[in-house]
Amino acid sequence: MRYILHSDLNNFYASVECLLNPSIRNKAAVVVGDAEKRHGIVLAKNYIAKSYGVKTGDTIWEAKNKCMEEVVTVPAHFEVYKKISKYVKDIYRSHSNRVESFGIDEAWIDITERVKNFKEAEELANKIRLQVLMEVGITVSIGVSFNKVFAKLGSDYKKPNAVTVISDKNYKDIVWPLPCNDLIFVGAKTKAKLNKNNIVTIGDIANAGKDFMRELLGKNGESIYNFACGLDCSPVKMVGEEDKIKSVGNSTTCPKDLKTDAEVKSVIYILAENVAKRMRAKNLWCTEVCLTIKNSKLQSIDRQRKLESPTNLAGVIASVAYEIFKSEYAWSDTIRLLGVRASGICDKPLQYNFFINEDNIIKKQRLEETIDELRSRFGYKIITRACVKGDIELSTIDPTEPQHNIHPLSFLK
Ligand SMILES: [Mg+2]
Repeated sequence: MRYILHSDLNNFYASVECLLNPSIRNKAAVVVGDAEKRHGIVLAKNYIAKSYGVKTGDTIWEAKNKCMEEVVTVPAHFEVYKKISKYVKDIYRSHSNRVESFGIDEAWIDITERVKNFKEAEELANKIRLQVLMEVGITVSIGVSFNKVFAKLGSDYKKPNAVTVISDKNYKDIVWPLPCNDLIFVGAKTKAKLNKNNIVTIGDIANAGKDFMRELLGKNGESIYNFACGLDCSPVKMVGEEDKIKSVGNSTTCPKDLKTDAEVKSVIYILAENVAKRMRAKNLWCTEVCLTIKNSKLQSIDRQRKLESPTNLAGVIASVAYEIFKSEYAWSDTIRLLGVRASGICDKPLQYNFFINEDNIIKKQRLEETIDELRSRFGYKIITRACVKGDIELSTIDPTEPQHNIHPLSFLK
């Protein structure tokens, strides 16, 4: 039997803000993105704001309406969240060398080697819960189970500051009555499909049987069936055992809706520069470029294109992304968000295509590396592309701010 914990920091961003500023503790408080740059949406809320019905993703205006104006809005401090997340994960690592992060505020901890039964596992979970509260000052909810999927359900089951045990004896009582979309990988589309077939709870998935689930949803259906039955056997990764990077992406909600090709080109260059910089820092190349466009009606498209040879040059990535834009977007609406992603990640190519001028590539590479260095020493805005400079609003975008980074999820292949 394996013993696995899933620990989830409750209302993480909001809890940190309450910790930094105790005077907002007893008020409805929300953490918001930068209002001036139009990221002015709720990123996290404390329990009081939640009790008024405030949801993540609400606009500041909606949150104020729901709380009858009595809501405190706090700007996000991502650097502080990262630091505190690390403190907490160091506590987890002091209990096991198998700790796998799932985002900034969640982690699995395999404690199989530390305990003999569920009673001891529950005791250790409570010890960790109290340690985080005493040493860091925020609450966690912990699920205790024999696989990662059920442990995650356990951390969601009772909040805040709680431990829930889902054992091989009680999982049918606790897990099976839950709605099917509580299960990881069951999104809105899958849920609709399942509901159409009278599958409403997680127990219904288990009872539908493997063959039926495979027929309905293919390979994914089979995994979901296994999860529902507690048959998930994916390991908790060892500390330091990172996933191989599959893509590097950056996106931004623009400070104003974009109306012209020139504006789109500017934003694409800003994003591509940061994507390329992050690839160079890890010594990676890409063979594909993907562009995401979301218009002001929030409809979005994703298109990708293969490259003739691998690159990590912003100039190449940007020009391919812009080519995609020109061939795929007909300006039916103004544009709210753009994202540039490099995929088909590979190591340094041994030899470039025979027809490509290698000296030229090396020169460009040196230039971009010099820019990276200037920016790391003097800040991002020390140097700006001419095409961006002309636009005062667009030049306020700083793609190195953490909310722009797209982190590929790594859970279960
Ligand atoms: Mg959380």
